[in-house]
Amino acid sequence: MDIQFTGYQPIQKGINAMQLVFDKVDKRLPQNKEEQINIPFNKPYMTGFEQKYINDVLSTGKLSGDGTYTKRCQEYFKMMYDVKECFLTTSCSDALEMSAILLDIQEGDEVIVPSYTFVSSANAFIMRGAKIVFADSRADHPGIDEDSLESLITEKTKAIVVVHYAGVACDMDKVMDVADRHNIYVVEDAAQAVDAYYKNKPLGTIGHLGTLSFHETKNIVSGEGGMLLINDDRFIERAEIIREKGTNRTKFMRGEVDKYGWVDIGSSYLPNEMTAAFLYAQLEQLQKIQAKRIAVWNRYMEELKELEVLGFAQMPKVHDYAVHNAHMFYIVLPDHDTEERLRKYLVSSGVKAVFHYNPLHNSKYFADKHDGRVLPNSEKYDNCLLRLPLYTGMTTSEQKVVINKVWRFFLREHK
Ligand SMILES: *Cc1c(COP(=O)(O)O)cnc(C)c1O
Repeated sequence: MDIQFTGYQPIQKGINAMQLVFDKVDKRLPQNKEEQINIPFNKPYMTGFEQKYINDVLSTGKLSGDGTYTKRCQEYFKMMYDVKECFLTTSCSDALEMSAILLDIQEGDEVIVPSYTFVSSANAFIMRGAKIVFADSRADHPGIDEDSLESLITEKTKAIVVVHYAGVACDMDKVMDVADRHNIYVVEDAAQAVDAYYKNKPLGTIGHLGTLSFHETKNIVSGEGGMLLINDDRFIERAEIIREKGTNRTKFMRGEVDKYGWVDIGSSYLPNEMTAAFLYAQLEQLQKIQAKRIAVWNRYMEELKELEVLGFAQMPKVHDYAVHNAHMFYIVLPDHDTEERLRKYLVSSGVKAVFHYNPLHNSKYFADKHDGRVLPNSEKYDNCLLRLPLYTGMTTSEQKVVINKVWRFFLREHK
């Protein structure tokens, strides 16, 4: 087969080639005659040990935070990530809030955040009075456009928040270089990026602070939950205090002070032990969970990559400095109309495909606070990005249904 990459031009000569590809795919993927296809977008995976460990906690009667399981989870990350210090938190959003307090974000400080992200990346800083300066995505990836950072920095810029979208690393050398030259902090929102790497460094351990999420929709879950990773010694002592309602209770528990009291601002950012027990059961099987997800991701890539050859959709970009974690499989369609029609076709076929973020600079809350710059790439991903079902326990036959439906859509379109 001799197919040229055609970009997003209308393909005439491609149609025959497409038929060939489709025939090939169709043979590999036998016709699905399922009457009731119902493939969810996400389905949390349980290792089978969650209940046992939670029962463990219940039998000790020590239910509040910072017990044995919290310590185990933290130790796990300290070993696996070789991180200076880490704290289990109630969510990634809360770890981001802690970051904003730790960086001492004040009214009027500017914080650069990608527009194409979850609200928490910005909210945490807005709540401390920061002015958010939204950055665009890269043309080839929804992550922040590292090359645009320099032009967004002013005297008032205090921090840059980067988001490792889909568990694919941003170019951290570029980000850290800009930040160092301007004396600015970097927070890595690594919510989607557990066990993903930039040049062999775990994501979340490169900026001054990093945050992980264990929300039900992520790779490793505890229902709700998160972690603050601290890569700069200066923040360790204060983080412990902020997480314990602004008290030095943790020091007291270690016997380092005679009594504890109110020493700083803070809130209750530590999860209970049942959450930590659940998480530990998942962490123990991280390798297995990751292997399953990567197999699913690779199969999508293998079976759908010809869509790109034909110019029908862009496959997810993984930069050569990044090792991703199969958090998500998305494709980027040439226009919103195609994205919408494909999504509706899949959903009506029982395959729950979903779009992703509405850029935050266009949101109801922020639109009138935005400085008016157009951020075309974030809007492109808003309009054209479609996520396919991907979950740890996804079976090959479930995945074949999805792949087959996607091809069937394009065959119908180009008949
Ligand atoms: C999921 C997610 C969050 C929020 O995580 P929670 O643990 O639910 O607070 C923040 N940022 C990004 C990029 C996310 O994907």
